[in-house]
Amino acid sequence: MTVALPEPGKRSKLAPRSWELWSLPNDLLRYLLLAELAAVVWTVAAVVTQTVDRTDLMRFGMLAALFAAFQLISPRIERMRIRMADSHRVDMTSVWTFAGVIALPPGLSALLALLIALAMSVLRLRAGVRLYRQAFNAANVVLPCLTSSAVLHMTTSHLDGMSGSASEAAIVLLTMVIYTAVNTTMTAGAIFLAARPLPVRALFGTAEENGLEVATLCLGGMTALTVMYTPWLTALSIVPMVVLQRGALIKQLEVAATTDPKTGLLNAVAWRQVAQKELARAARDRHTVAVMIIDMDRFKEVNDTHGHLVGDAVLVAVAERLTAELRQYDSIGRFGGEEFVAILPEVDLATARAVSDRILARVRELEVFSPDAPAVPLGGFSASIGLALYPDSAGDVESLLHVADSALYAAKSAGRDRVESVTL
Ligand code: GH3
Ligand code: MG
Ligand code: MG
Repeated sequence: MTVALPEPGKRSKLAPRSWELWSLPNDLLRYLLLAELAAVVWTVAAVVTQTVDRTDLMRFGMLAALFAAFQLISPRIERMRIRMADSHRVDMTSVWTFAGVIALPPGLSALLALLIALAMSVLRLRAGVRLYRQAFNAANVVLPCLTSSAVLHMTTSHLDGMSGSASEAAIVLLTMVIYTAVNTTMTAGAIFLAARPLPVRALFGTAEENGLEVATLCLGGMTALTVMYTPWLTALSIVPMVVLQRGALIKQLEVAATTDPKTGLLNAVAWRQVAQKELARAARDRHTVAVMIIDMDRFKEVNDTHGHLVGDAVLVAVAERLTAELRQYDSIGRFGGEEFVAILPEVDLATARAVSDRILARVRELEVFSPDAPAVPLGGFSASIGLALYPDSAGDVESLLHVADSALYAAKSAGRDRVESVTL
């Protein structure tokens, strides 16, 4: 996995300028430099102490050629994946770098990783990824390679001439585990130092991302065995890689098409679709559904007083509170600006009011930090909520939103920081 450290505005306590190298937090800067240093020193040590033979060089050449051929076959897909990257992005070049760990001596496998990182950095630079992040991402490939290679060569002199025993298979698996563990830990460390405090899931990625990582490494392991034992079949590994990469891109596109980039909530289009499905289900099962519009109070003043970055941080924090306060099967969306919507299946008006009161209390307690004065918490925020109930208020999504919007208007007129529902 590589780190696409949070972009401006994505994390509640960060400002864009804090992402320039010279203004990174000290501990993050030290961490990045230490990783670079370790990668450089270990690579040099591994290269000068290694003995390589003709077979090793041929395998190196084959893996480098495979990488180049793959880039030529599907150049656009990886470019799109890089451009759309969120905080975690599974680096699919690990198929070749991990194959190098299994098939090459440590020094050559580190050189292959460096070569690939260098080639990828051309793509990433064009996509606007900063150089220091790329340097860290390169170290985050080289160090897992060297660590797992060291373990592999400690446990077995060479995988050449394998007997096919279970212990050899276990060694390949162990190498894979070490590779992933070092890579994931380094990524999590950087993300933590960049944007703590964060939930564990944000540090270690989703199950889906980790699944893709494991699939890529498995393919890497198989590519290595093909390079070593059936070199003429090596080119075949490109086909499943293209399919895997396309699958990953489709997933990324799906998420991008349905998510609000600032808060990670559903966007308006996706929320409407979910809401329509919920209403159809409610009609079948004859249960009630509450629709909620949450609008921040006097948000223009928040922006005018503290600046847009603080405003954005408040929106992200409100989205987090909403997610925490509602149930997993309630769907929450951002309707643009400082307005959120939620649909709560199998909820009556009294419950929806109680939930709304809880949300309002959480917003009141909210504290965010300005990048200009990180020690001083900013608070005093509030929101207003308008409620509508299916089937009592209306029978379709648009009409329910209309009713909830009228209730919201009533809440604003009555002095804000409250919940209203239109009397039926
Ligand atoms: P009210 O209590 O009546 O809702 O007042 P308000 O100021 O919240 O309402 P209004 O709709 O007049 O202003 C909404 C403001 O929200 C305007 C805009 O500056 C701000 N806003 C909208 N989207 C964003 C955003 O993505 N980030 C930030 N920081 N501010 C935003
Ligand atoms: Mg408002
Ligand atoms: Mg508004």
